[in-house]
Amino acid sequence: MTGFIRLIGFLILAIFAISILRTVIGLVAKLFTGGASSRASHPAPGPGNPPKVKAGGTLHRCPVCGTLTSESLAIKRTSGGEIHYYCSPDCEKRAESV
Ligand SMILES: [Zn+2]
Repeated sequence: MTGFIRLIGFLILAIFAISILRTVIGLVAKLFTGGASSRASHPAPGPGNPPKVKAGGTLHRCPVCGTLTSESLAIKRTSGGEIHYYCSPDCEKRAESV
């Protein structure tokens, strides 16, 4: 029985060690792939972090934060005969409050 408990303990330890190893490997990989080419404010595009600007469509600069957003994704607002393109509802709200 003691041997069985030790086996379970070893398995738990192994799973724990593997998860730590995976985290470390992921951090190192991130450091190597995203560290040199991009800054912290602009994380590298990936599966979990799709690029904000998609191919196709006219690009418009958000008047609030300056992010380039394609026409199909932007939030359009007409004010004073001019069309403004906002990157997000947050920026649209911020523009309204000014
Ligand atoms: Zn914006």
